[in-house]
Amino acid sequence: MNIMTELKEYVKDAQNIVVAGHVAPDGDCVGSVIAIYRYIRKLFPEKKVTAYLENLPAVYDFLDPDNSIISNELDNDEVDLFIAADTSSIDRLGIVGEVFKKAKSTMVIDHHVSNHGYGQVNIIETPLSSACELIATLMAEEDIDKDIASAIYTGMVTDSGGFRFSATSRKTMNIAGMLMEKGIDHAFIMDRCMYSRTYNQAQLLGRALLESMLVMDGKCIITTVTKKMMDIYECLEEDTEGIVDQLRVTRGVEVAVFLRERGEQEYKVSLRSNSYIDVSRVAEYFDGGGHIRAAGFTMRGSIHDIVNNIMEQINLQM
Ligand code: AMP
Ligand code: MN
Ligand code: MN
Repeated sequence: MNIMTELKEYVKDAQNIVVAGHVAPDGDCVGSVIAIYRYIRKLFPEKKVTAYLENLPAVYDFLDPDNSIISNELDNDEVDLFIAADTSSIDRLGIVGEVFKKAKSTMVIDHHVSNHGYGQVNIIETPLSSACELIATLMAEEDIDKDIASAIYTGMVTDSGGFRFSATSRKTMNIAGMLMEKGIDHAFIMDRCMYSRTYNQAQLLGRALLESMLVMDGKCIITTVTKKMMDIYECLEEDTEGIVDQLRVTRGVEVAVFLRERGEQEYKVSLRSNSYIDVSRVAEYFDGGGHIRAAGFTMRGSIHDIVNNIMEQINLQM
């Protein structure tokens, strides 16, 4: 593995460290935060380190089996080093963005094209399959134990769609192989994170697919999940993860658009594309961000207006 300056060099002088990721955390974000937390604990047991996430989606609870790693609040102690992982902007840190701004030193580890480098130290590599892949290259192999490896592997698997997205490289697979040698249960991680779903999630997915619409001569597929639907199937925000990917695999489709009602006239929009539409450009136009093939943003208005506005932006690239 080609090691850049190791993470421990950045961490060694800080006493109180916070590691955090973006709001509505996904597998890469959870994996990054837990991997860095465990690594600091292992190498510097005397330091105070807090792993902050807005919440830990149930699918990833195997990475924090005792419920002892992830905190959903921070105390008021002065922070020597704030590490933001897999997070493209301060806004995306949510409420701890304010803590980031006040921290004595800050570090950003990310792989989003839309990340302009808002930390004092910015380790940003694009295109790269996941932030976890980058994190692996910042750790010496001998410092990675089985638990750290499981967390990194989880982020790599989830953000690369099970190693099938185009940013997956030989290096990605070499790192994955190294992590496998740490004794992780890679088959379990793949099955749990990529294929398993609760019955309620299955029902909501079914409903979302049933109600989807093809537009632009079949090049674009759209569906909406309303709050009412979330209530009927007793689903949380995290239970909608993956619906957009199921839309994207529809043959003939270039762009998948998934809208989730978040509040009164407020929708979270997820975009995915297959080969030529740069959805990060579309998302950035609406003040969101992401990657060429996966991006998102929040938008206000009626479904009708929102869809029209998005279609207009997608059309510019068609
Ligand atoms: P999602 O559709 O939420 O799975 O997000 C796809 C990609 O876009 C992820 O890499 C997110 O980090 C990014 N993304 C989603 N929503 C936003 C947003 N509001 N602002 C910036 N980036 C976002
Ligand atoms: Mn993420
Ligand atoms: Mn990521």
